[in-house]
Amino acid sequence: MSLLSKNQKLDEELEQRVQNMLADDRYTDHPMREVLEQLWTAVGWQLARLERITNISDRYQNAARERVRLLSRRYDRQIRLLERVLRISDRYQSMLKDLNVALHEASTHDLLTGIANRRLMSECCRQADERSTIDGSTYSLVVLDADHFKLVNDTYGHEFGDRMLVELAQKFKLSIRSNDLCARWGGEEFLGLFVNADLAEAESVVQRLLDSVRSIALDFQGAEVGITASIGLAQHGLGETYADTFRRADEALLVAKRRGRDRYVIAP
Ligand code: GH3
Ligand code: MG
Ligand code: MG
Repeated sequence: MSLLSKNQKLDEELEQRVQNMLADDRYTDHPMREVLEQLWTAVGWQLARLERITNISDRYQNAARERVRLLSRRYDRQIRLLERVLRISDRYQSMLKDLNVALHEASTHDLLTGIANRRLMSECCRQADERSTIDGSTYSLVVLDADHFKLVNDTYGHEFGDRMLVELAQKFKLSIRSNDLCARWGGEEFLGLFVNADLAEAESVVQRLLDSVRSIALDFQGAEVGITASIGLAQHGLGETYADTFRRADEALLVAKRRGRDRYVIAP
């Protein structure tokens, strides 16, 4: 028998004995009877109060437990919500990153040919000028213009002309070294920036490039259509800006056109 039930049994026995004594006629006139009766009533009151307090405490504990349960459910819901928000924000951030890459690509590359555009090329030329000022390094500029391109458009249509421009851009791109850059400068004109290249190095690239352009054979309704190009070439001189070098290369290009096209001319 546990200590608790042993005590309970003793309490019940005591209760019974007191009740028996109070009910017993033999003790009616006993001098302690009245005091015992008052004590007995007082104990009854105390027990009733104790029970009320215990009930209130139980109710309070239940309410507190319920509040904790509700709070923890709310907390779980908010954690799940937060996880969803984080997942969405991750997706959103990666979309923004992709968008940034696409925007950068669009602002620095030519839509039709996919090679660098004039803006990117200008920036790279400006950087080449800076390097030249700092360490005296050199570079060469190569201006390529498609020959009689208006005639190509007029004969085969603008769409075919576009395909031809894409082909020209590819040939230019494949001819240069990995550190060099070629760009669509505008219309049917392309510009190459050959870093750390003097005229001799640039010239050998240009010769290969012209051969490569001559090898173009685009299909038009079963027939092969070719093209030629003219090139002006200039090496950057100390103290020049790239705009100066470009002007000299462009003048050389005009000389190449005047001399009959399908050739290159080196600027003095
Ligand atoms: P040249 O040998 O003297 O350079 O003669 P050209 O006909 O190539 O030169 P011109 O400046 O007279 O004509 C250039 C042509 O290039 C005219 C223009 O319609 C064409 N062109 C410019 N940009 C594009 C383009 O994006 N797509 C197409 N299909 N044609 C273009
Ligand atoms: Mg042209
Ligand atoms: Mg032109």
